[in-house]
Amino acid sequence: MDDVEKIIARLQRRCGRERNARIAAEEILEQKSRELFDVNQRLAGLNEQLERQVAERTGALEAERAHALAIAEIDQLTGLKNRHSYKNALGQAVGQAASAGKFFALLFIDLDNFKALNDTYGHGGGDIVLQQVASRLKSLTRARDHVARLGGDEFAILAEIDAETDSPINLADRIVDVFNEPIPIDHRSADCGVSVGFALCPRHSSDAGELQRFADLALYSAKSKGRGNAVQFDVSIGSAHRFRLALAADLASALETAALEIHYQPIVNLLDERPVGMEALLRWRHPDRGWIDPLTVLKTAEECGLFDQVSRKCIELAITQAAPLLITNPSFWLSINLAEQNLRDEQLAAHINDICERLNVVPSQIRFEITEQALIRDIHAAHEIMSELGNRGFRFAIDDFGIGYSNMLTLSRLPFHTIKIDRSFTQEAVDNHETRTIASAMINLGHALGLDVIVEGVETAQQAHMMRELGGHMAQGYHFGRPSKLEPS
Ligand code: C2E
Ligand code: CA
Ligand code: CA
Repeated sequence: MDDVEKIIARLQRRCGRERNARIAAEEILEQKSRELFDVNQRLAGLNEQLERQVAERTGALEAERAHALAIAEIDQLTGLKNRHSYKNALGQAVGQAASAGKFFALLFIDLDNFKALNDTYGHGGGDIVLQQVASRLKSLTRARDHVARLGGDEFAILAEIDAETDSPINLADRIVDVFNEPIPIDHRSADCGVSVGFALCPRHSSDAGELQRFADLALYSAKSKGRGNAVQFDVSIGSAHRFRLALAADLASALETAALEIHYQPIVNLLDERPVGMEALLRWRHPDRGWIDPLTVLKTAEECGLFDQVSRKCIELAITQAAPLLITNPSFWLSINLAEQNLRDEQLAAHINDICERLNVVPSQIRFEITEQALIRDIHAAHEIMSELGNRGFRFAIDDFGIGYSNMLTLSRLPFHTIKIDRSFTQEAVDNHETRTIASAMINLGHALGLDVIVEGVETAQQAHMMRELGGHMAQGYHFGRPSKLEPS
């Protein structure tokens, strides 16, 4: 082979090797691209799966958030809106009243004797009452009204009204009426009255805070009228409140001076008209405003947190001033009024006992008067304090008897010694045959139970005569003597 052929043969071998190498490289490349494609496919699958998971999780989170929001807006026990939701709705309503010229009413509703119901039927019973209240309120309102439970036994309604001069008094009255119907609990039926107070936006105020204060004052006024009342806010309620606020500022200093006085009204034997006892009645001689009546003093004291101090001072003053008279006349007694708030003062019984021991006053010469209404509102607390004081020998009278819707059976289980028949009976009995019959029945009932019966509010000789005819033994009223200071003997 010559040189040229050798060269060609070498070139051909080289070309062959290069072609083989190229083919091998192309195979590797193809293999790698296939692998890359697979990886890509798997990645795309993973990506899709991840996206699906993210979407599912987001959906679940949104559902959870909506559920949490619903819980935050809804009262779990009653299914009504809760306080948080009410606050927002009130803010919106006030805003709409300003921007869109809408009118609405804010009603506050409060149960009259929820605590007593809870004591009688337990918390389970209390829950049933609250659920019933919710469903009755719902049934009386429209879907667009906002009905909320603010907490405990407090409820509120925001109701749109058509015109500035409209009033939701019909709704408020219907609410009071529907609760005249007892609530069934475990085959028993519970009496559960409500009080309603309301204020109007923008008529009374366009400010959420002030509107709530006004509705609250109206509710307070409804409650102080007794159970089952609806009251619309008005300026006089506001000014009475401002008056008490001004008084409150002076009450603390009155406690330090002799401005709080006790006046005494005789209680007489109707047959010979001789005094058998006397009732202590609080008076405040205000330096600028003159005499302030006891109910205003006590309401003011309650509003400024001085209730216990003021009433303890009255009790101490009365026993101290009456002590010489009681000690020298063992059959004579002193009557002292206890208010509903006194029943919850757990230290009161010991305090009273200490005073009597210090002054050598015999407990049986003191009668504590508790109104029928205060008893019904908190029969449990009344029972406690009556047992504690009763065991020490103190006596009790039911005050203002006949106007408080009390249950005779319940009252007969409490250790009363006396009933005081409300003055409305005395004053109507002369002209009204039916009232006379009722008064006579109450006097006989009291005597049949072995109780002293005192007829209150005897203003004329004719009334005294009538009450004597009806069988009354004891009486109290302007005819026999007005409340006055005890003259030092
Ligand atoms: P109450 O316990 O029913 O007292 C009788 C009220 O009737 C007294 O009014 C008395 O002045 C008045 N009154 C007496 N006789 C007659 C009468 O013939 N005709 C008329 N129209 N009224 C007569 P007062 O002193 O204004 O007391 C009002 C209420 O304030 C009392 O009613 C009692 O519930 C309460 N209260 C008075 N002092 C105290 C006190 O020291 N503590 C407490 N917790 N309450 C008191
Ligand atoms: Ca009394
Ligand atoms: Ca009375």
